[in-house]
Amino acid sequence: MLKRLKQTTLQSLKTVGVSAMVHNSRWRGERLLILAYHGISLLDEHEWNHTQYMPADVFRLRLQQLKDSRCAVLPLAEAIERLYKNDLPDRAVAITFDDGTADFYSRAFPLITEFSVPVTLYLTTFYTQYQRPVFDLMTSYLLWKGRGENLQLKSLTTEDSKIDLSSFAAQETARVALLRFAHQNNFSAEEKDDLAHKLARKLKVDYDLLLEKRIMQNLAPHEVTELAASGVDIQLHTHRHRTPNDRKLFLREIEDNRQSIHALTGQHATHFCYPSGAYRRAFLPWLKECGVVSATTCEPGFASVSADRLLLPRVLDNPALSPIEFESCLTGVSAALPRRRVPAHKVIG
Ligand SMILES: [Zn+2]
Repeated sequence: MLKRLKQTTLQSLKTVGVSAMVHNSRWRGERLLILAYHGISLLDEHEWNHTQYMPADVFRLRLQQLKDSRCAVLPLAEAIERLYKNDLPDRAVAITFDDGTADFYSRAFPLITEFSVPVTLYLTTFYTQYQRPVFDLMTSYLLWKGRGENLQLKSLTTEDSKIDLSSFAAQETARVALLRFAHQNNFSAEEKDDLAHKLARKLKVDYDLLLEKRIMQNLAPHEVTELAASGVDIQLHTHRHRTPNDRKLFLREIEDNRQSIHALTGQHATHFCYPSGAYRRAFLPWLKECGVVSATTCEPGFASVSADRLLLPRVLDNPALSPIEFESCLTGVSAALPRRRVPAHKVIG
């Protein structure tokens, strides 16, 4: 109901010319919209988690809308530099992708090439080196796939409970129990993958098919190299998708990530995105110390010259947004309306 009211309001604002006025306003002209994406579905991932996955046809519509609304899509580094010089072109936008899931290569990149827009990919590198599904995400996805089943946890962990997986809350309970079990037993990446494989068997899900389709896997090293050579800007997202509160460990995450990216692309990455959008003020001096020049969050909004370079807001696009809602993000009209908060993606790795 609220969504319909919002759409009607947005349509009315468009009809009477307010949207175009805001889009061409000085207010919008001084602001940068940084769009955030994660995965483009290979199968049904958007039905499992629509805040993290989008069908390719919706992403195509987004690129078409960007083109039709004459937005200036800039490379992220240039956009940030021009933001702080008060030199942005009208309707400035930067496009970012987080994590570097395998679908970026086969689903997102062909469309990015077709529409010829610059894109920054914040790459988490552990699962690029280890070419198996991201354990945390795969566990969640498998439990959703098996939502018609009852799971005996004892067959996988030391916990003795039976969970009816029909609700999201129950799937979440099972996910937490499995992650806890892996953590408490200090499982290696291989042992976690074995556990995911066993879970798939219990839930009658074809794990080999998911492996073949590269569901919940990251880009392979050679794909990252090829994407970088084709103009995709590969930047920092930590090696293991985590931001430790300890300075040394935090810096190690950035350094491992940076070295992996350099080995694959020959580039020295200096732009950063907080994994899961989670940040603390204490991180800022550490980021400066290791030469990071910008960092993006998942706080919704436009970046203005008054924003801290290490706390730049972004708008997380998701397929639940209708075309008129997405258009209101581009124009800036959405900034004046109350908004529902879209949760950041789950922690992986
Ligand atoms: Zn991420």
